[in-house]
Order: sequence, then C-alpha cells, then structure tokens
Amino acid sequence: MTKPSTFRGGTHPPGHKDLSSGSPIVRLPAPEVVTVPLCQHLGAPSKPVVTKGDRVVRGQEIGAQNGFISLPTHSPVNGTVKDIKDLPMPHRRSGPAVVIETESEDGGCVFEPWSDHASHSPAEIIDRIKQAGVCGMGGASFPTYVKLSPPPDKTIDTLIINGVECEPYLTADHRLMLENPSDMILGMEMLAYALGVERCMIGIEVNKPDAIELLESMGVSVVPLKVSYPQGAEKQLIDATVGREVPAGGLPMDVGVVVQNVGTAAAVACAVRDGMPSMRRIVTVTGLGVASPGNFEACVGTPFSDLIEAAGGYSGDVERLISGGPMMGMALFTDGVPVTKGTSGVLALEPGEVREVSEGPCIRCGKCVDVCPIRLTPSIIATAAEYERWTIARDFGALNCMACGTCSYVCPSGRYLVHYIKRAQDAIRAMGTGKEA
Ligand code: SF4
Ligand code: SF4
Repeated sequence: MTKPSTFRGGTHPPGHKDLSSGSPIVRLPAPEVVTVPLCQHLGAPSKPVVTKGDRVVRGQEIGAQNGFISLPTHSPVNGTVKDIKDLPMPHRRSGPAVVIETESEDGGCVFEPWSDHASHSPAEIIDRIKQAGVCGMGGASFPTYVKLSPPPDKTIDTLIINGVECEPYLTADHRLMLENPSDMILGMEMLAYALGVERCMIGIEVNKPDAIELLESMGVSVVPLKVSYPQGAEKQLIDATVGREVPAGGLPMDVGVVVQNVGTAAAVACAVRDGMPSMRRIVTVTGLGVASPGNFEACVGTPFSDLIEAAGGYSGDVERLISGGPMMGMALFTDGVPVTKGTSGVLALEPGEVREVSEGPCIRCGKCVDVCPIRLTPSIIATAAEYERWTIARDFGALNCMACGTCSYVCPSGRYLVHYIKRAQDAIRAMGTGKEA
C-alpha cells in the first residue's frame, strides 16, 4: 500500500465504528406511510406537483425542480397522497413534505435504462442525473448535476471519489464499498465521462483496509489516507489526495477538481443504468442507545423511529439523538423525522457517550489554532463574537469556517467555539458586510 497521506490540522476522535462496521446492509421495506420532504437537497425546495387524494406510482415526480440550485423529488412508493404540509425535519426545524400512504413498492415509473452510458453524450448523462434528483449523499446534499456543470472558464482535470467517512460512528459508506463496489465504480466512470476527465481516484482512510484492498483488486486508483477528522470535507480531501489548496472562499473547481461521495456515485449508476430516481439510501443506526446497531437501506420518507426499531429498539437511557455524525450532525428532539437523501446516520447516544464539559475561560493554549484545518484562529473569532464585535470576527475569517467542530472538540476549557462562530456568521451575513453576504 502507498504511504498514507493527510491534510494539515485535524484531530482524531474515538471512532466507535466497530459497533456497526461488521453489520451487512439490511434492506427495509417501505413503511405504511412515507413522509417525503421537498427539501432534501441544498437550495430551493421542489414545488409540489401533486395534490391531496392523488394516486402516485413509484418514481413519479411529486415535486418539480424550482431554480438552478434545486432538484425534483420522486415518490418512493405506489400509493395515495394523504397530505402536503410542513412537518419536523432532521436538518431543520420543519419543512414541506408530501405524505403518502403506501400500497406497494414495486414497478412504477422510471426512466429508460441506459446500459451503455458512453453511447449518450455527457450533457445527456448530466441531464439524467438532474432529472433523477441525485444530490450529494455524504451529508451536504448539494445537487450533483450542478457540480458537473462548471462555468466555461473552469477546467476540471480530476475527479475524487470520497470514501473517507471520517465522522465517528458512521459506517454506511464503508459497507457500500464492501457490498456494492460495482455500482460505485460504474458511477465513478459515469461521473468521469460526464466531466470529460481521465484522472480519477478514491480517497479512503486506512481504518478501512478491507475496502482499500477490495477496490485496488478491482483496478480502482485508491489513495490511502491517515485517519483524521475532518478529512471528508472537500477541501481537506483535495489537499490530502492531490496536494492542491483550495483558496479561502473558493471552490474545488477553482483547482480543477470535482469531489463526489461514494453513495452519490452509486446513485448515479442507478439513475443512468437502471433509470431509477434517487429514492433510497443506506443509513447507519448506532450508538449504545440502540440494541443492535447496523446499516440499513431505507426509502426516503421512512421515519427514524422505524430505523431505531429495525436496530432492535432503544436500550437504556438515551441522552442524545442525532441525525448524522456526532461532530457535524444535528441533535433531534423527536425520532418522528423522515430519512432524506442526505441522512447518513441516526445516533442514539447514552449519557457516557456524550461529552459534557462546562464552559470555562480561554486559557490561550492554542490547541484550537493547531487543529483548525483552514488555519483560522477560532479563539479570537469566538471571543469577538461573544462581545458582538462582528467586524473583528469577519476580518479573522469567520465566514470561511465550515463548522466542522474540531476546535470545540479539542478545547480543554469546553468553549462553545462553533456556536459563537456560527452566531458571527449569521450576524456578518445579516449586516451585508461579508464577502458571502
Ligand atoms: S469549526 Fe471552523 S474554526 Fe473550528 S476547526 Fe472547524 S473550520 Fe476551524
Ligand atoms: S483551545 Fe480553547 S482554551 Fe485553548 S486557545 Fe483555543 S479557545 Fe482558548
């Protein structure tokens, strides 16, 4: 194996991945009622094109794309629309959703399968990916077709597939690489074809040696990476794999790179080869708060409570329920929220798994500065934010913070650094004084 590389900064929180990494993916049937969010992707929610009482078939468009940064939404089941209303969501307080009573989950309306993607133009492949509603499945949920459509002045020469999965506890991507490498590889080839690039590779951390070995044996160019958080963030992955530094405020395309998650690549293969819209995903359900942690393939709209039940139900005290990983995930107040295309994990953590530190004053140890992967000074930005000195926070680069939580994790004084920095970001944007405002 090539010597593992990495990026500057970062930290190494306990992985806890052994709770679920050995559990093969279990396919769950659709629940009796699915709650399909119209805002599963970054950008504008899709616009409902069905009404209460309509019968829908699996794969039918129920929400139309509503702008450039937006995607269509499809029904994952055959059934009847019972309601369209705002409901609690895993990534925000609430959002619009189509509630469908399930009749069955077979057949339905899909696109024409394309067995030979190379007989279609790159533009046709990109359009299919858009029509199928494929978005980033690593967590950010950015519409995939937009990343495949860089402006003419940006030359892309490298595609990086993200198999890092650096968030503790999560193992969905690891299991996908082990159990369905063919779809992932086919999707990677389709993405490279759509971009017109020959150089493509997959970055995987060395805590997944079985996945590295398997993919290398299948002829894939694998870049082994040291275990470090947040290596799965695009800019850090680009630094670690190809040694290019994305400028502050810039995008991967500024250094000729497009990054796509392994789950996204598999979804692209399903959309192009099988004509299947993006309606299912793999979710890790784990933590000491569930009886049998594992990995489950569920259709979007499945309530988290069904996933918990599939993992044997709650066991003991649950101190915190989280959608996603413990570092960047969202704490939930209910398990009644639905799976979206971006749901990578559901964590039910017992009291002993939750780090409780009472906040003290900054002792100027510099640890937060050492670990910040984008070279910010979190202590100064946070202090400025605490005293509402937004201009200082802005000048120290608050808007470039990606809220990875690494600084808060290492701070011995338990400073709520990310909380303060996010406050500063909101205030700077509201003032209209930031570059991104
Ligand atoms: S949360 Fe922001 S400031 Fe803290 S380490 Fe991550 S990028 Fe740096
Ligand atoms: S890690 Fe915490 S205590 Fe140390 S400099 Fe940063 S904010 Fe201050």
